[in-house]
Amino acid sequence: MSSLSYVSTNNNSAWATFLSQVERVLPYLGDLALLADTLRHPKRALIVDVPLEMDNGTIRHFEGFRVQHNLSRGPGKGGVRFHPNVTLEEVMALSAWMTVKSAALNLPFGGAKGGIRVDPRELSEKELERLTRRYTNEISTIIGPQQDIPAPDVGTNAQIMAWMMDTYSMNTGTTSTGVVTGKPIYLGGSLGRVNATGRGVFVTGSRVAEQIGLTVQNCLLAIQGFGNVGSVATGLFHRAGARVVSVQDHSATLFDASGLDIPALADYQRQHGFIAGFPSAIQLKEEEFWHQEYDIFLLAALEGVITPERARSLQCRLVLEGANGPTLPGADDILHQRKITVVPDVICNAGGVTVSYFEWVQDFSSFFWSESEINDQLDRIMREALEVVWQKAETLDVTLRTAAYAVACERILTACRERGLYP
Ligand code: GLU
Repeated sequence: MSSLSYVSTNNNSAWATFLSQVERVLPYLGDLALLADTLRHPKRALIVDVPLEMDNGTIRHFEGFRVQHNLSRGPGKGGVRFHPNVTLEEVMALSAWMTVKSAALNLPFGGAKGGIRVDPRELSEKELERLTRRYTNEISTIIGPQQDIPAPDVGTNAQIMAWMMDTYSMNTGTTSTGVVTGKPIYLGGSLGRVNATGRGVFVTGSRVAEQIGLTVQNCLLAIQGFGNVGSVATGLFHRAGARVVSVQDHSATLFDASGLDIPALADYQRQHGFIAGFPSAIQLKEEEFWHQEYDIFLLAALEGVITPERARSLQCRLVLEGANGPTLPGADDILHQRKITVVPDVICNAGGVTVSYFEWVQDFSSFFWSESEINDQLDRIMREALEVVWQKAETLDVTLRTAAYAVACERILTACRERGLYP
């Protein structure tokens, strides 16, 4: 449990999950474990009020956050989430997972994350723009191309990044493309960024499937979450011959034992914003989704969805964490005992931040790469990072998550030690 006075005592919170993941890696860190307290203390957490004039003239106030968890290895990096359940503690956990993710991939970044407690679907386009601009202005004292670089996450997209870039640029009297990543292509965005997270899930997921003797062709796949990450990853698995038998989002759970038509479902989702009502599929009850037989179970929604109870009933061989923090620590142990392999979030969904890194480098050098160069480098970096983690897991005889934490925390804490304490 956290010793921070501003953190709740909820054992199932995302922050408690992160702390427990740190606890598990300590025995493998040698002397560096003595520095682990730095991981339990986010470096900086900013809470801002975001007042918004609604289209009808009334004013509403929203809670906004930006947390920089650790900056030892480089500037802060991490997305901005617009979601009605955002809390400071959730953003803290998400920022900490970014620290671990950047280090696991060996990207020269620390970890940060931001968010606004808002349902963006309830706002008009103009309200969303005003909200984004005011939020950016409020956090502008701590972000910057060399300080902390936001990106899209749940509920945000390239247009929101464009408004953030413009607001920051207007405030500083510059054209600072490198202040955010995941921007539109015409504004210094990178080719391949939109598909990068889903592509990374496919690259790591299919590699681990191969390692555990599972053939992607004809395997049964289920997915929770059909937004950017989920739809791209599922599309790639579908193209590789997997049979996607079940898809769940906030609106419905679809099932088709002979395999759903994924390109048609993706079109439907783009048109409607949800999957409910998609023809030619059976609709399951929400909980039934967790009790079917699959080979690969892909999570691409929110944190904390695999509870110990669900972990006991899950029938699959491989869990892919496209979402951040979807598995509770108690559930992790049960999956391990049941010999279900989990490709952890900090590796599995790191394709997004990896191409964000490419975008940031391209913005700095003002020289842009082709999509095939981006995808080749992305695949290479992800395969190499996975290989290091896989070897570590074999050597230490631990799960892939603990192995990824061992690799990452060694890098983070060594950087902390080498920098020393100021003053
Ligand atoms: N929001 C994404 C993540 O959770 C991407 C972060 C980034 O590109 O900085 O990894």
